[in-house]
Amino acid sequence: MDTTELYAALLGLTSPWNVVDVRVDAAEKRVDVHAEHEPGTRFPCPQCGSLLPVYDHAPVRTWRHLDSCEFSTFLHAGVPRVACRRHGVKQVLVPWALPLSRFTIPFEQFALSVLHQTDVQGAAGLLRISWDQTWAVMERAVARGRRRKRRRVIRLLGVDEKSVGAGQDYFTLVTDLTRSTVEYIADERTKESLAGFYQGLTPRQLAGIQAVAMDMWPPFIRATRAHVPDADSKIVFDRFHIMKHMNEAVDAVRKQEHRRLRQEGDATLAGTKYLWLFAEENLPHKHQERFARLKALHLKTARAWALKEMLRELWRYKRRGWAVKHFRGWNQWATRSQLEPVRKVAAMLRAHRSNVLTYFDHRITTAACEGVNNKIQAIKHSAFGFRNREHFRTAIFFHCGGLDLRPLTSKKAG
Ligand SMILES: [Zn+2]
Repeated sequence: MDTTELYAALLGLTSPWNVVDVRVDAAEKRVDVHAEHEPGTRFPCPQCGSLLPVYDHAPVRTWRHLDSCEFSTFLHAGVPRVACRRHGVKQVLVPWALPLSRFTIPFEQFALSVLHQTDVQGAAGLLRISWDQTWAVMERAVARGRRRKRRRVIRLLGVDEKSVGAGQDYFTLVTDLTRSTVEYIADERTKESLAGFYQGLTPRQLAGIQAVAMDMWPPFIRATRAHVPDADSKIVFDRFHIMKHMNEAVDAVRKQEHRRLRQEGDATLAGTKYLWLFAEENLPHKHQERFARLKALHLKTARAWALKEMLRELWRYKRRGWAVKHFRGWNQWATRSQLEPVRKVAAMLRAHRSNVLTYFDHRITTAACEGVNNKIQAIKHSAFGFRNREHFRTAIFFHCGGLDLRPLTSKKAG
């Protein structure tokens, strides 16, 4: 096998394409491979597929291929153009690269594998291409994956909001709780943000939704009621969001009480913030003695903590009937607690009681997409992972969209 045959094999080139020249530049550590097609070959019009003779050739183009050992490897070829009666003069598709790409398909596939393991900046360094080129590989892959996506019924949905950056800048995210994939991303967290998702579904897809986990966020509730048949039996307020509200109430009680005690010269509550926020069984061993003493002090904070722990028990029930009883008991205690932040949470849960209790029909939480959340955190933290909202969206679909991103080859020449 000579070098041209070797490179034809490495590039996967078959008739009518041949490698006609291979040049190795040891100083520059690069290999330049030149390909040509057999004379007299007819190529399909890229739009309608009719086989046509070559009209002329576009100027020679260059594609980056997988390295040959450590040598950067480039493929060069003049791409033929055909003159289609219906579509005019068109450049034909080549079997080694996707239209508009400056990389061969094996290189692009490799770049995608690297991008799955590291951020854009890291991948650009490893691949020795620019940030923009690396980003374009990701962007094209996501566009391809989204085009290929088929309509299907998603039975269990999670709706969540994600903040971007530091301010009050939000995205609405819809996840498939069964597959743990992000299905939809919209700006802000308004009724319209979520309605946009539902409006893209067919009546069959809408009817196929069995349950939707979400925070008690009125715009999301309204959008779901407006579009999902029988929404009231399907909306489940996420227990982790509920516990977040409850933890905030405990913390508000602690702050008030701490301020009051400190005025009397009492520092009992200093440095105790996180002790009250742990789930009881997760409290680190080293804090347990101190916490036991604190709890015994008849503090308001200790009462708020106990109410928090009692609320957390709610989701442990197997039977709805027992859960209803537990909720009733908790609500009475919380309402009479004289702890204003806790009473507010109780009032909110009472108002939304039926969709707190739908948990016992569907047993879903938005945390089923914990893996997705971790990935999104990682995307947010990789400083060069995105430069704007559109980039952030693309990165989420790339890592969490469950999309078929493969760069597939085009039609063959005849
Ligand atoms: Zn045509």
